[in-house]
Amino acid sequence: MDYEAHFQKRISDLKSEGRYRSFATLERIAGRFPKALCYAPDGSSKEVTIWCSNDYLGMGQHPVVLNAVKEAVDRSGAGAGGTRNISGTTRYHVELEESLADLHQKESALVFSSGYIANEGALSTLSKLLPDCIVFSDALNHASMIMGIRSGGCEKHVFRHNDVEHLEELLKSSDPKRPKLIAFESVYSMEGDIAPIKEIIELAEKYSALTYIDEVHGVGLYGPRGAGVAEERGLMDRIDIIEGTFGKAYGLMGGYIAGKAAMVDAVRSFAASFIFTTSLPPGVLAGARASVEHLKVSDIERQRQRRNVRRLKARVEAAGMPYMQGESHIVPLVVGEATCCKQVTDMLMSEYDIYVQPINFPTVPKGTERLRLTATAAHSLEEVDHFVDVLQELWSESHMFQHAVA
Ligand SMILES: *Cc1c(COP(=O)(O)O)cnc(C)c1O
Repeated sequence: MDYEAHFQKRISDLKSEGRYRSFATLERIAGRFPKALCYAPDGSSKEVTIWCSNDYLGMGQHPVVLNAVKEAVDRSGAGAGGTRNISGTTRYHVELEESLADLHQKESALVFSSGYIANEGALSTLSKLLPDCIVFSDALNHASMIMGIRSGGCEKHVFRHNDVEHLEELLKSSDPKRPKLIAFESVYSMEGDIAPIKEIIELAEKYSALTYIDEVHGVGLYGPRGAGVAEERGLMDRIDIIEGTFGKAYGLMGGYIAGKAAMVDAVRSFAASFIFTTSLPPGVLAGARASVEHLKVSDIERQRQRRNVRRLKARVEAAGMPYMQGESHIVPLVVGEATCCKQVTDMLMSEYDIYVQPINFPTVPKGTERLRLTATAAHSLEEVDHFVDVLQELWSESHMFQHAVA
């Protein structure tokens, strides 16, 4: 077999479908987010405004965070030096896990290399350890949850997105004696909507199922202490396992779970993706803890972000552009066709120095390709207005959005 030709063919197929992924090479400028330099292949660069970042509150450049990172590097050096079990558990890990257990008012918390790894490790381990477990999974759950459930290897039922009636049907028709786990997200990152958390908890209580919530796009942003949508809605104590990330609103990287001590300890003891990997370095952990602690008490960043999100939604709506109207801070603008989606974002970048990454299959279903817009705390109202003016211009003049579906 001509291996190389085979791989080339797979790539050219992607290109002809318009969903070949090209990355923007950025250099973020501390203190100037959402501005960044964007590099062309010839090495030249220009300043752009980012409109698709998950650094929702600008914590990736907050002085409190930067100082904590620097101090930890100066004190402890670059790497952790081992896996958690073999010399890689530092004071920074333990302190961050205490901070997280407090954030979510749970007995225990456990830090992973990323949110992806946290979902994969926790869901696979919990479902594998429960004998004959059945997992109920929202149809739009993140790839990391799907991977975790798949590698857990137990029976799985997918319920229609946010559809509690369908979930109940599935629960009702399952053997009442078998252990069950319901896995869902709070904020769905690509749709911008929020799960009916209370109704799902009520079903879990009625059918004796464990609840596992991914609050990756909720933590830092929602609730009086930034513990997520479940905190905002007064439901945190009724959820068994909360999963989160430091990679989005907290501005760094790394993931975690929080829950009952026995469950967290089981994951710590059995999850391969937790055990067999080098632990996060001191700088990242110290920065994450500084960010979590800061957002437990500071609301300024959240207020500014909400103000900008409100403005963005109001202006997009007034312009008559078809965005998916969810309760969250995410504004998905549906284009509905991959090549067109890419053309729009190329134009934004080349003509207007605005960076939005097109979102294509398999991140979202084919035919629903979209621009996923995020107004952060770091944008100004003028930047919001300018951005929507530009979108509107493209919209009306260039027929770029001819495939748009309402
Ligand atoms: C980004 C994301 C993850 C993964 O988190 P990372 O820390 O980036 O690995 C998990 N779940 C959802 C819903 C996400 O959007």
